[in-house]
Amino acid sequence: PSITRGVTVEIPKVSWDDIGGLQGLKKKLQQAVEWPLKHAAAFARLGVSPVRGVLLHGPPGCSKTTLAKAAAHAAQASFFSLSGAELYSMYVGEGEALLRNTFRRARLAAPSIIFFDEADVVAAKRGGSSSGSTTVGERLLSTLLTEMDGLEQAKGILVLAATNRPHAIDAALMRPGRFDLVLYVPPPDLEARYEILRVHTRNMKVGTDVDMRQLAEDTELFTGAELEGLCREAGIVALREDISATVVCDRHFQTVKNSLRPALTREEID
Ligand code: ATP
Repeated sequence: PSITRGVTVEIPKVSWDDIGGLQGLKKKLQQAVEWPLKHAAAFARLGVSPVRGVLLHGPPGCSKTTLAKAAAHAAQASFFSLSGAELYSMYVGEGEALLRNTFRRARLAAPSIIFFDEADVVAAKRGGSSSGSTTVGERLLSTLLTEMDGLEQAKGILVLAATNRPHAIDAALMRPGRFDLVLYVPPPDLEARYEILRVHTRNMKVGTDVDMRQLAEDTELFTGAELEGLCREAGIVALREDISATVVCDRHFQTVKNSLRPALTREEID
């Protein structure tokens, strides 16, 4: 962790290589996030204005958060994480204060990435409430918009937001200079599942009878999070069977795989 004027922040350790699949998406994030943060001066010299916000959307557990962290790692940027649901549940005024405070800290610690999880909770479409009073969500949204518009002068700060419900996001956030880039993070396909399994067994002793290709084929509809869980659980099953085990074998993977029901459905994928 680095200390910047009393603000302790951490640069995430996860790298692009820790994310299986999603090659095209990683490339887009490198261009839109990593480069502008790393080479802010070059962008300014050419008068190229980088994107200020990126919206990542897709089903849960498919690496939206991990992608944001890997982008921060690659750019050696401080990573600030906010949860829409948490902001929403705070006392009156506290959520707005935390938002403003986070942007202030991010400016001090720049280059910075502010990651905004469950963004739809805060950035939901404004309902045009008839009572004339503003709701918690509306106040948080207007604070977020003010802060994002204020990023103009500040260099080296990017907002990445994640949601499972992109259609619920207020159109005001999609205007130029706000979330200019919208990227879909899909559930892993066969090749991606294979790579994810490889990532999460990298440091495991895996038996020669384990066919990762076959396992990737047999785990259709599994998310990255579920594949990670499968690898970890297989290790635990092996240890539970024999605490002096030296490898995790195919039967351990099979036991766990057969006990798991993926949360995604085929309709969500097609
Ligand atoms: P949520 O919408 O629930 O916040 P998310 O899309 O942000 O989910 P992550 O939190 O990034 O998903 O991923 C959850 C876990 O799954 C992480 O610990 C990560 O290691 C693992 N994971 C997901 N996708 C991948 C992937 N493509 N490669 C390697 N690991 C992955």
